[in-house]
Parts: sequence; C-alpha cells; structure tokens
Amino acid sequence: MQVFEQENELKEFLKKARQEGQSIGFVPTMGALHEGHLSLVRAAKSENDLVVCSIFVNPIQFTNAEDLEKYPNLLTEDKQKLKQEACDVLFCPTKEQVYKEKPIINFHFEGLDQVMEGRMRPGHFSGVAVVVSKLFNIVQPNKAYFGQKDLQQFAIIARLIKDLSFDITLRMQPIVREEDGLAMSSRNMRLSDTEREIAPKIYEALVLAEKYWNQGASLNEIKTQVALYLQKYRIIKLEYFEIVHADYLTDVEENLRHKPIAFCIAAQVGNIRLLDNIII
Ligand code: AMP
Repeated sequence: MQVFEQENELKEFLKKARQEGQSIGFVPTMGALHEGHLSLVRAAKSENDLVVCSIFVNPIQFTNAEDLEKYPNLLTEDKQKLKQEACDVLFCPTKEQVYKEKPIINFHFEGLDQVMEGRMRPGHFSGVAVVVSKLFNIVQPNKAYFGQKDLQQFAIIARLIKDLSFDITLRMQPIVREEDGLAMSSRNMRLSDTEREIAPKIYEALVLAEKYWNQGASLNEIKTQVALYLQKYRIIKLEYFEIVHADYLTDVEENLRHKPIAFCIAAQVGNIRLLDNIII
C-alpha cells in the first residue's frame, strides 16, 4: 500500500493511474477503522482498479471540542488493517496540509441540514461538505463509498455531488453491526463496560419501531413506544427518533407512507453520542 501525506504527491500518483486508464474508488474516513469502514474498502475493491482510503479527523465538522480532542488516533493499526484488505493507497494528511488557511466558505443544504444531526450540531454538515469537496477535488474518484450509518451525511453528499456537478458515482454500504446489534462506530471504544452492555438497546428500539410499523401502528404510537422502550435504561438519553423519507429526510405523513423510509435515532449513552438507523 502506498501511503501519502502530501496532497501534491498523491495527485501526481493518481494522475498517472488515470492516464493508464485505471478507475479509482474512494473511501473517506476519520480513522480508528472497524469492519464498517473495511466493508466500504471491500466494496470499492470489487468495483475499481485502484482504491484510495483517506484518514483525516476533520476539525471543522466537530461542534464539540471534547469530542474532537478524544477522537481516537490509531494510525498504525489502521494502516495494518488497510494493508490486509489490499487497499492500494492511503492518504493521511495533517490538519495544516488540508487547511492551509481556515476556510471561509459555508454550505447550506436547505432542509437537509435543518433536521436531526443538523439541528443538534449546527455547522457540522458545512464542515463535512468542505472536507469532502476538497478530498473529491484531490482524489477525483470515479466512485465514492459512504455508509448508511451516517444517512443524513449521505443525503447531503448526494446533493453536493448533484449541485456542484462532481463527476462521481456515489455508493451506499449497509450498516455493519456487532453481534448484539450495536452499529459499529469508532466511538464505541469509549463506552464503559456497562454502557457497552446497554448500547444495543438503541438498535432494539429501531427493530421495535419496525415491528409496530408493520402492524400498522400510527407514527405517534411508534414514536411513543420507542421513547418508552429506551426510558427504561437510565444511562440512555434519547435525543431524537425520526421517521423520514430515506432520500430527502422529510417527515413521513401518516397517510403517505412511500418507501424507502428511514427510522433514525440519536442517543447519548453516558457521555457518548451514538447514531443508528434502519431503512424499510
Ligand atoms: P467515519 O470514520 O466515522 O467518518 O466514517 C467513515 C465512513 O464509514 C462513513 O461513510 C460512515 O458512514 C462509514 N461507516 C461508519 N460506521 C459504519 C458501519 N457500522 N457500517 C458501515 N459503514 C460505516
């Protein structure tokens, strides 16, 4: 695996690959890689000649200083995992290389960034859009791979690609879970033993919601049942549970239940904020 820290060296390398007619698949990450990330790398390997993974903890998308400070840095282990997947290229630039100057550009995604994560973390998706645009311009991939785990991020990147005419095919990969259902996340390693034991209740609440949905329960009834289910666990604080159209993130109306529909949840388990969703 070729490792690049310098943007220009990576660009030079990829230019040659493109001239040789190789297709490029791109997997952007913030590191502390787990099976979820590796599933994206595998998907990229299966559809492209060359796979580029980036590891960059993007400071401008964090709205909580402690979260940024505590974000795990496991570059040595990550390199090993990527090598095992036969990833071709790793791009791991420093903050200073990515942001030679603090960007003054701001993105707004009408509606898409006003709900769920956007409401809880103002400015987060603008920061995501800035770094993803930069990385797209540097790597110029044919295909880019993102997880369903961050469904709202996916919807926003889909609009970014459309509105800015990036010539990139976007691919979504399903959520990879632990055996007990907990969605894999780099944040899981910060859970205490007790928190880790309780955390799968978040997924169980989504499964419960789907069961009520299939029984024809009203949207309010489903929301109430999810809240009641999680209330039993005092270390879980439900931030939101939303039933939205999976592509547009607009509220589903009682009498217009067109699929695909997503059940999205965010909850604090102790001090750790976890996200999960299912699409039906
Ligand atoms: P992150 O490093 O958290 O920015 O995530 C990088 C990419 O991996 C994003 O596209 C995420 O949606 C995706 N991802 C994170 N966790 C999972 C998971 N459990 N299953 C599938 N994809 C995931």
